[in-house]
Amino acid sequence: MTKKSDLIYLVTNYLEQQAELGLNELYMSKKTVKKSAVSSNGNWQDSKTLAELNSKIHGCTKCRLAKGRTKFVFGVGNPKAKLMFIGEAPGRDEDLQGEPFVGRAGQLLDKILAAINFKREEVYIANMVKCRPPENRAPETDEMDTCHPYLLKQIELLKPRIICCLGRISGQYLLQTKEALGKLRGKIHDYNGIKLMVTYHPAALLRYPEYKKETWEDMKLLRKEYEKLSA
Ligand code: SF4
Repeated sequence: MTKKSDLIYLVTNYLEQQAELGLNELYMSKKTVKKSAVSSNGNWQDSKTLAELNSKIHGCTKCRLAKGRTKFVFGVGNPKAKLMFIGEAPGRDEDLQGEPFVGRAGQLLDKILAAINFKREEVYIANMVKCRPPENRAPETDEMDTCHPYLLKQIELLKPRIICCLGRISGQYLLQTKEALGKLRGKIHDYNGIKLMVTYHPAALLRYPEYKKETWEDMKLLRKEYEKLSA
């Protein structure tokens, strides 16, 4: 049974979407309203571009994280990028701005990218989940399971040649392993025919600067693999 508060939330969300579309009249039974709110993004699988996918899923309410978000954080970057970074989840700044990696960790990511001659606009950046978990906790497995089809569709549309997982959470999830980050980093894995690397999350580097040396080794390896793509 859906709780009354959940139903009110779903209806409110639906009405906000209708208002965004300029619709200010509504004639529906309660049953229809509930069904519409849940399935309003039903045809996102047919999206042909990242922008279309974003427009179809940005009102998603499929998991509990929808309740706490300010902005949906789809992903950002070059839609033709060969290199994709996948982090964990939006934090406070990302939730406010609707863009991944824009806070202190994001600024550090920009510096890391610059150190290996990449601009943010050249690559694509996304997260395992698109809505901010409360208190910046890690996303839970069921939340990532629910959100994962969206990420898979992003990967399908982007067709990256290399994926770099930022942190243990995305690395372990995509590689379906419980191995520690220390064991996953520093090498090239195969992810459905795409080269995949795992390195430290920039937020971890802010807390533990001693990991910067290993991250630098990973970034040099990443650049080397990237160069091979056009060799
Ligand atoms: S985290 Fe993903 S599945 Fe959950 S509400 Fe946000 S977009 Fe939907």
